[in-house]
Amino acid sequence: MLKTDVVIIGAGAVGCAIARELSKYKVDVMVVDKREDVGGDASKSNSAIIHTGYDASPGTLESQLVVAANPMYDKLAADMDIPFSRIGAVLPAVTQEQFEQLPAIKEKAFNNRVYDVEYLTAKELLEIEPNLNPEVKGGLYIPRESIIDPFILVQAYAENANANGASFLLNTEVTGITVEEGKIRAVQTTAGEIRADYVVNAAGLYCDDIAAMVGKADYKVVARRGQFFILDRNTSCKVNHIVLPIPTKITKGKLMCPTIHGNMLVGPTAEDLDNKTDKSVTKEGLDSIVADVTRLVPQVNIRETITQYSGLRPNRNPEGLHVDTYEDIYGYVNLSGVRSTGLTLSASMGKYVAQVLRDMGLPMEFKENFIWKRKGIPRFRELPEEEREELIRQDPRYGTIICRCETVTEGEIVEAIRRPLGARSVDAVKRRVRAGMGRCQGGFCGPRVIEILARELGIPAEEVNKNIKGSYMIAGKNR
Ligand SMILES: Cc1cc2nc3c(=O)[nH]c(=O)nc-3n(C[C@H](O)[C@H](O)[C@H](O)COP(=O)(O)OP(=O)(O)OC[C@H]3O[C@@H](n4cnc5c(N)ncnc54)[C@H](O)[C@@H]3O)c2cc1C
Repeated sequence: MLKTDVVIIGAGAVGCAIARELSKYKVDVMVVDKREDVGGDASKSNSAIIHTGYDASPGTLESQLVVAANPMYDKLAADMDIPFSRIGAVLPAVTQEQFEQLPAIKEKAFNNRVYDVEYLTAKELLEIEPNLNPEVKGGLYIPRESIIDPFILVQAYAENANANGASFLLNTEVTGITVEEGKIRAVQTTAGEIRADYVVNAAGLYCDDIAAMVGKADYKVVARRGQFFILDRNTSCKVNHIVLPIPTKITKGKLMCPTIHGNMLVGPTAEDLDNKTDKSVTKEGLDSIVADVTRLVPQVNIRETITQYSGLRPNRNPEGLHVDTYEDIYGYVNLSGVRSTGLTLSASMGKYVAQVLRDMGLPMEFKENFIWKRKGIPRFRELPEEEREELIRQDPRYGTIICRCETVTEGEIVEAIRRPLGARSVDAVKRRVRAGMGRCQGGFCGPRVIEILARELGIPAEEVNKNIKGSYMIAGKNR
């Protein structure tokens, strides 16, 4: 039987950030996820923006955590080799009515203690963002809104937590939680029982199902879908900042921004679904993005789309971000409502939950030998010539390009598979090194990636999965 101090349910941004924070202490931590890879669900299909919290509801836990998290990313990115850039956001008002809303938005930012928001004139806006609607009346500049690689953020949390002793149990679904005499005793999973004194529910979209396992089903989670376009890196109309619409009550609205790898991201929608699995994109949804974004950036060239995707926000009903503990279940921490800002607030949520556990009585002695740094996989495409040559000298596989669109080498793919918590599927390789993320979307490199995975894992190519268990890409030999 497995045994640990703390079980964290969910290996998304939030669960992995909590694991990393707890791994700074002499505490046994085990992260359990039903998926085949770390990276979560919503955590790998979002806008990849590290928010400032300028538009949060002042005084809420969400405002507190987002505002606290934003400044943490310079050090996190530097320590763990996470692609991150403080490109800033602009919020252009294109109608008189929107223009009149700007003072209220600035005041809200102030009430959230985001003090560096500035007014920009129409002229100033068009100087820094020439592709904006020329009708723009003026707007706001939010300098610390930033972009990040969301996949590498979660991998970095997980790998660093793992290097510091946290263990990960993947392909394992939590099916029950045992509470005896008002205390957490164990977690039931499809891989057997885990004895533990503390459980953190970081199960995102399914956190209500986990809460029901301990009899705390006082809220429901509804999936709020967001659809996106990704445009080619060489698209004819680009923006330099995150171009945000004036937010509404329901959503931050549809934006256009560069991704950290130089593509253009356009979206998302906000549609409440009656199921938690529909990650399709729809003509209606995509059309609504085009209609809204062309009001901000009229020349946006949607024909240069290389892919479309959608993500599901865990929308809590009743609304609001909650970190709950219960007098009648010692050792249980329930997170819910981690909806539209969870990627950002993962950094501060790690610290917040660690404090909640300490307050509950978990002994937390700091490890003097905590490893702060995580070395990422070399990004061959971004290296100067001399460093490329040195890498090839050390390992000739860095001299073989597998993904031509993104210039990804065999050396990087092998490293993605071999490192701890390594890739076990084609999508897991893609999220680590970008093979298949370019304009051909894996049309050329896909079969080569399958071959490398099969060779490295010692399995037939027919058994290589696209992502979840059984999602085979090759049916068998036809000759
Ligand atoms: C369209 C969209 C745009 C967004 N844009 C941004 C943005 O720009 N910036 C930002 O900060 N945030 C953004 N977000 C929000 C952010 O992505 C989420 O809040 C965050 O990723 C939630 O992380 P999580 O770890 O709580 O959940 P998830 O990433 O969903 O992870 C939960 C994990 O729990 C696992 N799990 C569930 N049930 C079980 C079980 N029974 N047993 C084992 N494992 C289980 C799942 O497999 C999953 O891996 C956006 C979200 C969406 C959908």
